Amino acid sequence: MKNLSLLIKPASSLCNFDCIYCFYHDVAQHRQVQNFGLMSDDVTTALIRQAVAIDDNSLITFAFQGGEPTLAGLDYFEGFTQQVSNMKKPNQIIHYSIQTNGYLIDQQWCKLFSEHRFLVGLSLDGFKENHDQFRLTRQNQPTFDRVMETTKLLRKNQIDFNILTVLTSELARRPKELYEFYKENDFRYVQLIPCFLGLDQSDDLFTLKPIEFAYFYKEFYTVWH
Ligand code: SF4
Repeated sequence: MKNLSLLIKPASSLCNFDCIYCFYHDVAQHRQVQNFGLMSDDVTTALIRQAVAIDDNSLITFAFQGGEPTLAGLDYFEGFTQQVSNMKKPNQIIHYSIQTNGYLIDQQWCKLFSEHRFLVGLSLDGFKENHDQFRLTRQNQPTFDRVMETTKLLRKNQIDFNILTVLTSELARRPKELYEFYKENDFRYVQLIPCFLGLDQSDDLFTLKPIEFAYFYKEFYTVWH
């Protein structure tokens, strides 16, 4: 069976957050075209048509990412999944995943995720004090409470999700607190992403240093076991 994975950015680099460490704003600012806006219907249809043409027996994964992919709108995703259902061959297996900051997710989004068995990657930087220090809306508002609401909605709808946490210099000093937070909330699937320097930067307060990385993992694995 052939495997095909497509990483799709339906809202280009658009985002409703302005996270302090965001590498993607930085990357976008170094491009000739910072933002290509929302993906057009023509491009979306061509993408799906070419994907399902790969082989009659195949596993095709559509993975959505951003910026913030939900800014493309629920209609976009409903149209996308509908077109895939119409065009796919009988023996093709379709998987969906989405990486989101979780801010716009409501019951309607959960219905779509549930119907098409999306795997959701949800960005949450641990406990409130840490998360709200880094992950702010474009209006400079904290987002922890809203994202925690999203975790409840995902659970209520039995949608598989994992937590993505950016490991900053600050958070690396608090491994036990982070572990306790995951445990209290029963977050069993987590992915830690080291925070690196932006392009053209020489240093900042939140970039993870090697010694902090080592300290964090030594302590974190000790409490995890
Ligand atoms: S949600 Fe992601 S893309 Fe948006 S500002 Fe934060 S890190 Fe950047």
